[in-house]
Amino acid sequence: MAKIQGLAAHAAGAELLSYHYEPGKLGLQEVEIAITHCGVCHSDLHLIANDWGVSQYPFIPGHEVVGTVAAVGSEVRSLSVGQRVGLGWQSNSCGQCEWCLKGLENLCPEAEATCVHRNGGYAESVRANARFVVPIPDALDSEHAAPLLCAGITVYNPLRDHGVNPSSRVGVIGIGGLGHIAIQFARAFGAEVTAFSTSADKEEEAKTLGAHNFVNSRESKALKDAASTQDFILSTVNADQDWATYIQALRPTGTLCFVGIPPTPISTPAFPLIMGLRSITGSPIGSPNRIREMLDVAARHGVKALTETFPMAKANDAIEKVKKNKVRYRAVLCN
Ligand code: NAP
Ligand code: ZN
Repeated sequence: MAKIQGLAAHAAGAELLSYHYEPGKLGLQEVEIAITHCGVCHSDLHLIANDWGVSQYPFIPGHEVVGTVAAVGSEVRSLSVGQRVGLGWQSNSCGQCEWCLKGLENLCPEAEATCVHRNGGYAESVRANARFVVPIPDALDSEHAAPLLCAGITVYNPLRDHGVNPSSRVGVIGIGGLGHIAIQFARAFGAEVTAFSTSADKEEEAKTLGAHNFVNSRESKALKDAASTQDFILSTVNADQDWATYIQALRPTGTLCFVGIPPTPISTPAFPLIMGLRSITGSPIGSPNRIREMLDVAARHGVKALTETFPMAKANDAIEKVKKNKVRYRAVLCN
């Protein structure tokens, strides 16, 4: 069996270095994907830094993969060699628990992530259980589709679960990889969309992507003026914010939903939650079924990531640019 060549961090926060590993025999239900594109999600940066205490080194990041099927295990019927496919954050689940049987594999307690205790997609190939490898619709080109596999599904799923529709007023906090796709899906769902951003220079693009309103979240007056304006706010930021102000920005019965992961526990007064029947929730990626649906919706409604490409060998440059919040809006590594 040929070795797989990739890029790995050898210690927490270290630069990625060339690294290869021996993948062993392909599992009966596994697929090997020859990677053409892999998005750089901020979760990769969290994992490189071991922010969540789950990283093992050498660590190959990468979980927004598009490529072609290079090999299939003997029990795989759903995919064939040469087919263009995608793989996101999740690459396996038990297949038997209550949540898997309900089609909510993303909630399986034994869910396996593509690059946690497995080798991820900053590489020439990657493997996953076939149930988590999805065909890419012809209307989506690989570069712009790769970020949909994690960023796309992560923002699509809560908009769907919370019934966003033309009567909804949706706020998106943080216009990065996740946020710029959230604006597009919320707009496709017919909502009135408000972007909350620390980057004044993103206003024009946020509006081109579909935002009706733009609030510069560095201006405390602008934030306060947004009180009681939103039905659903999706936070995609990886930093601490004044969450109480965003709770205030919700209309009665509104929901603040976390997909971005701030470093500090969330703290907010209970009174506005009680009086306005407001709630706080979170959301993890989405099931394979939802990923297929999301890709189909993206293809039919023209939702796609705005990307900056880097050769795979320049992954460290891409990571540095993401750290500085300079990428517009998703870095994609290409083989
Ligand atoms: P990203 O591309 O780096 O975008 C994050 C955005 O947050 C930035 O563009 C910036 O937007 C805003 N931001 C950054 N630093 C900030 C600060 N100090 N204060 C306020 N705003 C700040 O990251 P991403 O790939 O979208 O990921 C975002 C978060 O989602 C990460 O924590 C990631 O781990 C998490 N995530 C969760 C899931 C899930 O399943 N729940 C899936 C994927 C990712 P502005 O310039 O507009 O302010
Ligand atoms: Zn991700």
